[in-house]
Amino acid sequence: MIGASLIAKKRNGEALSASELEQFFSAYSRGAVTEYQMAAWLMAVYFRGLEPAELAAFVETLLRSGITVDLATVPGTKVDKHSTGGVGDKVSLVLAPLVAALGVPVPMMSGRGLGHSGGTVDKLESIPGFRTDLTVAEYRTQLERIGCALISQTAEVAPLDRRLYALRDVTATVESIPLIAASIMSKKLAEGIDALLLDVKLGNGAFLPERDRAEQLARTMIQIGQAHGKRVVALLTAMDRPLGQAVGNALEVAECVATLRGAGPEDLRTLTLAQAAEMLVLGGAAPDLEAGRVAAAGALDDGRAAARFQAIIEAQGGDASVVDDPARLPAAPVRRELVADRDGWVGAMDVRAVGIAAVALGAGRRTLDSSIDPAVGFVIPAKPGMPVSRGGVLATVHAGSAAAAAEALGVLSRAIPVQDVPPPAALPLIAGRMTE
Ligand code: URA
Repeated sequence: MIGASLIAKKRNGEALSASELEQFFSAYSRGAVTEYQMAAWLMAVYFRGLEPAELAAFVETLLRSGITVDLATVPGTKVDKHSTGGVGDKVSLVLAPLVAALGVPVPMMSGRGLGHSGGTVDKLESIPGFRTDLTVAEYRTQLERIGCALISQTAEVAPLDRRLYALRDVTATVESIPLIAASIMSKKLAEGIDALLLDVKLGNGAFLPERDRAEQLARTMIQIGQAHGKRVVALLTAMDRPLGQAVGNALEVAECVATLRGAGPEDLRTLTLAQAAEMLVLGGAAPDLEAGRVAAAGALDDGRAAARFQAIIEAQGGDASVVDDPARLPAAPVRRELVADRDGWVGAMDVRAVGIAAVALGAGRRTLDSSIDPAVGFVIPAKPGMPVSRGGVLATVHAGSAAAAAEALGVLSRAIPVQDVPPPAALPLIAGRMTE
């Protein structure tokens, strides 16, 4: 009964008290509130939101459902980064080793793909042998030894968020400011950080495409961090086109390896350097953003960041030779090109459709228990506003079969239009910066 009455209260737009939330969630963990009741509560929150005190109590509930990792034995200011999710957003794989190579410890707990967006853990697991399921003790030891660990959310860290995250993914309740903010911040507060950089995406490939909603999300997360004594900086960045060219797990790792070696697509390098500069300043390793950016560019260009990535892969059981030879990564048997059917300009892209097409190809999960094909995905050199000639390559599909490739080509031809006039200007890569 308690379940139905508290769901009704939220449905009617009233706030639940901290003790009501406590009752509701402890009933959920005992099985006395069912999954369908929790799904109804999530939908009520989706429409009604959470009041500030209610949100604070919800964050505490998620946080206290597991342990808070103590990283006191790891010297230095621990700084992590989290993205709200996008298509081709592979920055973490370059950024974490890069920042660690410059002396700032990076304890990074990441997620799997959610909806149309990819996840860092799925990308890392396309490296043969790479283990993301380290125990908390292994995570701490690796941080002490090499200054960075790239792992999935363990069963001990915010387990309630893990359960709700999976339920939201299949009940159309992801796109909610308080639910996203509480989900991200509870995990980050539990993993042992001192400071956090947030990459809040905007544009049609983001969960919250509109700028005002993205800003509100950033503000909400900054306030939660502040209430827990953590410094938080948020960058608002473009997701009206995929980041870089690769979309799909092993393809993205290969692009990251190129970027770690001082090459790679310009937008990926620029965004990684901007984020590295923020983390180096937060971690006390650079006096200002420009000095941080210059130091980070140096570590990409002289091989220090790539060497640190190799050390991380080795420590986590993976085949570190992929950094010297990305051809060792899984490769798809079928490749098909999408070419421009006339001269013109690439129009505004439907990035969400690109992400959904990648999931359909097998790069993400269609259901909770479906498995991933690490090799499949897209390489998309086209960007909105780019001039193209008839026959020019807009994208290459990497697929497991000719039929899957044909289906993906159909979606991409609509998602990447070629038109006679240039489209309106795309979003700036870095569209804003917010702090407390
Ligand atoms: N990332 C998360 O960790 N949680 C969300 O709800 C959305 C993105």
